[in-house]
Amino acid sequence: MAEEVARELRASFAAGRTRPAEWRAAQLRALLRMTEEKEADICDALHADLAKPRMESYLHEISLAKSACKFALEGMKNWVKPEKVPAAITTFPSTAQIVSEPLGVVLVISAWNYPFLLSIDPVIGAIAAGNAVVLKPSEIAPATSSMFAKLLPEYVDNSCIKVVEGGIPETTALLEQKWDKIFYTGNGTVGRIIMAAAAKHLTPVTLELGGKCPVIVDSDVDLDVAVKRIAVGKWGCNNGQACIAPDYVITTKSLAPELVDSFKRVLEMFYGKDPLQSADLSRIVNSKHFQRLTNLIEDKKVADKIVYGGQTDEKQLKIAPTVLFDVPLDTALMTEEIFGPYLPIVTVENIKESIDFINSKTKPLATYLFTKNKKLQDEFVANVPAGGMLVNDVALHLANPHLPFGGVGDSGMGSYHGKFSFDCFSHKKSVLIRGFGGEATARYPPYTQEKQKILRGLINGSFIALVLALLGFPRERS
Ligand code: NAD
Repeated sequence: MAEEVARELRASFAAGRTRPAEWRAAQLRALLRMTEEKEADICDALHADLAKPRMESYLHEISLAKSACKFALEGMKNWVKPEKVPAAITTFPSTAQIVSEPLGVVLVISAWNYPFLLSIDPVIGAIAAGNAVVLKPSEIAPATSSMFAKLLPEYVDNSCIKVVEGGIPETTALLEQKWDKIFYTGNGTVGRIIMAAAAKHLTPVTLELGGKCPVIVDSDVDLDVAVKRIAVGKWGCNNGQACIAPDYVITTKSLAPELVDSFKRVLEMFYGKDPLQSADLSRIVNSKHFQRLTNLIEDKKVADKIVYGGQTDEKQLKIAPTVLFDVPLDTALMTEEIFGPYLPIVTVENIKESIDFINSKTKPLATYLFTKNKKLQDEFVANVPAGGMLVNDVALHLANPHLPFGGVGDSGMGSYHGKFSFDCFSHKKSVLIRGFGGEATARYPPYTQEKQKILRGLINGSFIALVLALLGFPRERS
């Protein structure tokens, strides 16, 4: 199956089907139409997989997918054009340009938490750049996966864009094939498997991974606004099952009690007195993840630190928004990516210590700072390495198509969104065009002293050397 799919797509790509700008635009328009016409089906699938609230499905998956399609349709008109660049003196006379060339046949392996957006978004980039593409949605979100398998062939050119469903065996079979790019979203352990498989074929990879995303809250903020923004970016994003959801908060010892109270107030306002019954909270994706999450707080050292929430309903796979205070730093809750509805609060004496705290861990996919202090903002931007960062809000940087989205170090490699998606699936081909004039004899052996002088002058940008070279100095001896 995997071999057959790869062979068919390679034949389509080799026949040049995916290259014309009209083909690319037609596929993107079809994806846009699919997203519009099948909005209800997409919401139903996301609800079946995660009990995702319809508003969240629309805001965080459907509308972003539509924007990505529209942005690519508009931007592509320029992105596909060769980019003229200055010619170098050493190659005078010549013209130089960068041509964006499709990579070929690419594999997109997607994750379960935003199973619609994380599948369609890279596919949009792959198509815009003129590639044939196989999408392997996550088996952990089976309703969305089978929706893609049913819908995509109804809308797009199935000889160039295909869906392969399945879990580890099917993905392993796909990884045995040679691809021109693998775009993977998921955890770092599997990221390493992807990279090892790609290495066998020297296939480039983009890895969109995760990790712990910290939030710093300084004491000079408008606390109510800050807490609402953190809360909606945590529990309003798939109940914390989001790669850029805040993982933990760092604040000062003096602000902590007020911050905890504010979380209690805001969470009750958002999700009521019995959050397990709230229709505005996603459930945990499956019992394996439910178990993983409940294990994280079973330890008495952690359980004792719960200051809000903690309720669970195993039958419905629901976990209430939970805030914890001063959890020991050596517990799994504080060392592993939480990827769920727990928010631990860590304290420091002085807010500046939080920068060292973050930098003592692996580089996060996203990190956030709430402060009015411009100096602290500058220090944060300059001194905290991260995939992306946001000051005085969380997660929203993902919605700006002019910003690249991706991790660094343990949180991933490569980026996409907007034009970065096009670039992610393109090779930047250098093209230099010369004529037969401007023949510089100095470049040819034997390298006499005179020739060396002219060549060194040329390399150092000397105008006289250029003139001499173009006039054919030193004259060839016959
Ligand atoms: P997942 O279980 O859906 O796995 C991701 C993909 O890997 C799936 O398509 C799955 O079939 C495949 N896979 C799993 N095991 C495999 C194996 N042994 N060999 C080959 N393929 C395999 O998703 P997940 O990993 O649980 O996703 C959660 C993680 O992803 C978190 O760490 C999160 O932070 C990260 N994430 C990152 C982003 C981002 O954009 N950077 C977005 C979402 C999630």
